[in-house]
Amino acid sequence: MTTARALQHADAHIFPPAEWTFSTLREDLTRLTYFRGRVAMSAILRALGVGRGDDVLIQAFTCVAVPEGVMSVGAKPVYVDIAPGTPNMDPLDLARKIGDRTKAVIIQHSYGMPADVVELTRVARERGVHVIEDCAHTIASRVNGRFVGSFGDAAFYSYEAAKPVFAGFGGSAIINNAELRRKIESDYASYEEPPILSQLETAALVYAYRIAYRPWSYWTVRSVFRALSKAGIIRGNYNKVGLHLRPASDFRRRLGRLPKSILINQLGKLESQTIHREKCAERYRATINSSAVDHFAIPQGFNPVFGRYPMIAHNRKSLIGKVRESRIETAVFYDTPVQPLSGSALRDVGYEPGSCPQAEYLAERVISLPTGFQVSDAQLARTAAFFNRHA
Ligand SMILES: *Cc1c(COP(=O)(O)O)cnc(C)c1O
Repeated sequence: MTTARALQHADAHIFPPAEWTFSTLREDLTRLTYFRGRVAMSAILRALGVGRGDDVLIQAFTCVAVPEGVMSVGAKPVYVDIAPGTPNMDPLDLARKIGDRTKAVIIQHSYGMPADVVELTRVARERGVHVIEDCAHTIASRVNGRFVGSFGDAAFYSYEAAKPVFAGFGGSAIINNAELRRKIESDYASYEEPPILSQLETAALVYAYRIAYRPWSYWTVRSVFRALSKAGIIRGNYNKVGLHLRPASDFRRRLGRLPKSILINQLGKLESQTIHREKCAERYRATINSSAVDHFAIPQGFNPVFGRYPMIAHNRKSLIGKVRESRIETAVFYDTPVQPLSGSALRDVGYEPGSCPQAEYLAERVISLPTGFQVSDAQLARTAAFFNRHA
């Protein structure tokens, strides 16, 4: 990443620089809302005319929602490796992977660490490839003073658990290109309101989670959530994976009125949430000083707002064992190049095991810490003490 170059290309951006503030951002996020983040992504691809016979480039070190969204329009996901020392797409590998059938690239800002979005966008546009930003992990991260999500042709967001804003399920699309916006808006009329039962289920999930979740109860809540979704009682994050991952009708649904009202309410806290997340990450960076973990470098001009704070653990297995005992919330995601798939199941979403070595390296080492409202000063101190003890 060369920041000087990045700055130069930011100025050459073909769309007018977005004059986003928190309040315009909030408004934009409630305009085109969908059943899930991947549905928003699918709607963007559809409006771009991406379909059968087309390739969409995505990064390895992602979750199955991303290739699923690509496959929902009949296109093929093609994997680009991440840049060494970052959780995000490598511009050099992007340049290598663009081919005749490449129609779009999805730039993921993993954990809220901005990708090298200026350089990635430059590489893509030079070859006539559309750019979509995956902002599922962050809403307010900035690069050179500008919010992520404003660099590409379009961006999408997700509101499920473990995302920066939680509304049960849901997603939004933001469109930065006037012609594309006209297309997606006219297509939006054909999206259906989900059945009321599904909306109630979503609302129940939000309230249950709000009551049950605290950083110290993380491991318990996680087991209960997994058991319930395995038993089919609540909708899981992932469906059985195959070429038809989820009913096609899911991909024609907008966000229901009830979850949308929860979303609007949650977005009201976006600014204070952002300040809290920045504080948590600064504290982790300043106080965790252990040879057991490394912090990621933050390039000049980048202002990440971490949805979760990632670190690289040198011996993750033993660390995670100790973490659980101490009731410190630490999540391992992603632990495969396409979470939660591993081994030959990766081929079901077009990933060839071994093809993206940096992504596989990081998937074996990354851990992440919470940055949400529930994280107290005491918890921050306990977490730092824990890591510093286990040097
Ligand atoms: C969660 C997530 C999505 C999609 O979100 P859904 O709302 O579950 O469809 C997309 N990309 C990334 C990186 C995510 O983590």
